[in-house]
Amino acid sequence: MIGNLFRTALFHCLLAAVAGIGATASAQTLALVGGKVYVSPDAAPLDDAIVVTANGVVAEIGSRSEVKIPSDARVIDCTGKTVVAGFWNSHVHFTQEVWKNAGSAPAAPLQEHMREMLTRWGFTTVWDLGSDRSDTLPLRRRINSGEVPGPDIHAAGSIFPRGGHPAYLPPEMQLLEAATSDEAAQMTRGYLRAGLDGMKLFTGSFKGSGKPVVNMDPAIAKAAVDVAHAAGKPVFAHPQNMAGVEAVIAAGVDIMAHTVAGEPVYSPEQLVRFKQQGIALVPTLSLFAKLPVGPDIARRLVATTVNQVKAFSDNGGPVLFGTDVGFTTYYDTTLEYELMHRALSARQILASLTTNPAQYFKAAKKGRVEKGFDADVVVLDGDPTADVTNLAKVAYTIRAGKVIYQKP
Ligand SMILES: [Zn+2]
Repeated sequence: MIGNLFRTALFHCLLAAVAGIGATASAQTLALVGGKVYVSPDAAPLDDAIVVTANGVVAEIGSRSEVKIPSDARVIDCTGKTVVAGFWNSHVHFTQEVWKNAGSAPAAPLQEHMREMLTRWGFTTVWDLGSDRSDTLPLRRRINSGEVPGPDIHAAGSIFPRGGHPAYLPPEMQLLEAATSDEAAQMTRGYLRAGLDGMKLFTGSFKGSGKPVVNMDPAIAKAAVDVAHAAGKPVFAHPQNMAGVEAVIAAGVDIMAHTVAGEPVYSPEQLVRFKQQGIALVPTLSLFAKLPVGPDIARRLVATTVNQVKAFSDNGGPVLFGTDVGFTTYYDTTLEYELMHRALSARQILASLTTNPAQYFKAAKKGRVEKGFDADVVVLDGDPTADVTNLAKVAYTIRAGKVIYQKP
């Protein structure tokens, strides 16, 4: 009997996990009325439009005369506002004290911190690039059950080079260092078996200012990449310096999780390889702008990293928005948008938040506000093509048709 109950409960958990039932079961019908809607970053906006969401997806979209508001819908007045697809932050961490024991901790502080760090900035999907999975995976379950309002979390497991414990992480923190290709392959298998969605390799590790960077042997990195790719999982890298970028290229890593501050712009040869291999880039520009290095050095770091983003994007490479929040406590995304705007148009920045990650991570029903797509939607107070910092002025964040943030 107990065995049966257990199996039944397990079956329901599995079913809920597979179908995402928890995230959508309580989603009511919403009607976003009167806003300017960008279906995608490259489309002309629809003015005075109506978007209806039901059962977690976009059910209708069109002009006020075309779309009928269902009688049971919660109407959200979007007059003067702009509606875009839900944002991705492709570089976050759930490592702060508040996430400890996230499986059993009270929901209220989790919800509050989630709001400060992510949902009030419009994020409906995030990539966690390194945390304690015994916190992050239960947190994800509680979010997906509807208990804690939050984004869809994808989590990556980290591997460091031997002797590559970074200076900015507490020395007592247990990190996996791979000394051989076999170890890297084994560690990757272990992470994927534990339920993680990808990998992050420290192809370069910061040991402190004035000390040499510890780079990962590309053959060791490649062993991890091969295991992850065989399982259909993406691999991120923290490159740290140009040798780390070379290791990304040689090992077949998919995504650079940072630009490389303090290094020159990517070489023409590197840009050719990025293009050939379909490598993506997460800028994290405000992270470097906020380093405690004094204004002159910070300005120089920003100038070089902005140039890297520009060269990368002009070369046709996919830029994926990401800020490293959770490691940094600088949650406000305004500065990141301002810095990105030195290299990219507002529409390119919107693409880095929506269509680029959806395409790159093969989320076929995300990234656009389109009939049949997931109802992941952000309502902004203003049009980002008029002022890019409007991307940070979020009135509502809606995930799978559920309001997970509403501006007070
Ligand atoms: Zn990070």
